[in-house]
Amino acid sequence: MTLSKAQWTEKAALIRPEGRAFIAGKYVPAASGKTFAKINPATMLSLGEIASCDLEDVNRAVANSRAVFEAGHWSRMAPKERKLRLVRFAELILQHRDELALLETLDAGKPIANTYHDDVPASANCLRWFGELIDKVYDEVAPTASSTVAMIRREPIGVVAAVVPWNFPLLMTCWKIAPIMAAGNSVILKPAEQSPLTGIRIAELAIEAGIPEGVLNVLPGYGETAGQALGLHMDVDAVAFTGSTEVGKYFMTYSGRSNLKRISLECGGKSPNIVLADCPDLDRAVEASAWGIFYNAGEICSAGSRLLVEESIKDAFFEKFECFVKTIRVGDPLDPETQMGPVVDTKQMDRVLSYVETGKQDGATLRFGGKRIAGKEGCFVEPTMFENVTNQMTIAREEIFGPVVSAITVKDLDEAIAIGNDTVYGLAAAVWTSDLNKAFKASAALKAGVVWINAYEAGDITTPFGGFKQSGFGRDKSIHAFDKYSDLKTTWFALS
Ligand code: NAP
Ligand code: MG
Repeated sequence: MTLSKAQWTEKAALIRPEGRAFIAGKYVPAASGKTFAKINPATMLSLGEIASCDLEDVNRAVANSRAVFEAGHWSRMAPKERKLRLVRFAELILQHRDELALLETLDAGKPIANTYHDDVPASANCLRWFGELIDKVYDEVAPTASSTVAMIRREPIGVVAAVVPWNFPLLMTCWKIAPIMAAGNSVILKPAEQSPLTGIRIAELAIEAGIPEGVLNVLPGYGETAGQALGLHMDVDAVAFTGSTEVGKYFMTYSGRSNLKRISLECGGKSPNIVLADCPDLDRAVEASAWGIFYNAGEICSAGSRLLVEESIKDAFFEKFECFVKTIRVGDPLDPETQMGPVVDTKQMDRVLSYVETGKQDGATLRFGGKRIAGKEGCFVEPTMFENVTNQMTIAREEIFGPVVSAITVKDLDEAIAIGNDTVYGLAAAVWTSDLNKAFKASAALKAGVVWINAYEAGDITTPFGGFKQSGFGRDKSIHAFDKYSDLKTTWFALS
């Protein structure tokens, strides 16, 4: 970490975030002139006004994105040229690391240590990785009879809307826009109303990197206006969505009601983190399980929000877990020592606290936490643990999206798998065991896009990320992300 708390605080006092939309290479207000206030969830003070885009802005941005796509300046640019620009975009993000980390921290309440060390470099890495990939993927020639040649090529889809949530604003943005742009598409980004600042800022950096105007347009605004207008637009070819399962379902209907645009969905989760008695290292499991739910104040789609522990070790495990959680430093996100900040806004805080009440009413035992942190202005919630939870309770079924873990005792792996799979979601799962047979059995049986063995939240840009069941479909990261953003064209040559 380069700066101290005092230095970050001083920088924060001086920052004046850009809040306008970015269309055709320029910052512009919403056509209606409407704005909304952006509140810092750690202080409840306003960071400035954000353009509230709606249908008129969407129409303008889509027309521009379409024109740019058809003109081919980007979509038909030689892959090696697109590569250089995306790599430069990644470098510029790293050059603005302090500024972007600070914006992200002020916007979403994420600790500066996380935004500086994780979010910003991982976002840059994602852009670089997809940039570098472009001139290394080949198309195909099908094994047809010798009288024909059948060529199968990937083509960009056209205008793709990326609608993203507020928990990892910059990283989710880059998980979408990197492969979308790498594949040659134009993209319109709709950040979440709670966290638009970094998305707005990097649009300018894309231009500086040599990415043509209109390849990346950014429309801040509400889901019900800007988001819905993109979903229903007849000239948007695809939507890449990350957010709740509820809104993901809306996008399916928007597609059906409009032009059958391709939809890919990264939605919610209620992931089981299974700790068996033969866990190879209980302390490591404790630490990873705690961060698996309390990192980012639990606002993680793949959080290990159901902790399934084998009966014979549960007392020892819970004891260690509680001790570890007591060491987590909750506080001012601008303090580099802080490990957990506030949740994103008052609405989310109230939602989390109401789940705590439901847990108590349903008969779960509140082991620790459960309250708003006293004496702080912002939306701070204590790290919270329920034990004696049954999988039928609301706190085991619904995604809380806050620092609340629901612990369930299981008698063996079979019961853990049955309970683990008894959910509408299927984003992630983990198993802690020393037995290779159990590890393989669990990884095959658990219905989730990723199964970690003796780890939680591990991965990198090379591995696909996304869900089974109502956690959505389509994958972010890895070479497979291209599938969502390109169409396959067969050209059949009949030879004489
Ligand atoms: P959300 O409410 O579903 O919002 C996601 C995005 O959709 C936001 O940009 C939102 O805009 C927009 N939106 C909301 N209502 C809409 C509507 N009626 N029509 C069109 N767009 C609409 O989710 P969130 O509260 O921001 O984020 C939390 C959720 O994201 C959790 O469920 C979490 O599991 C999920 N998530 C999933 C992943 C994953 O990879 N699977 C990753 C991160 C988060 P506004 O907010 O501006 O209204
Ligand atoms: Mg929202």
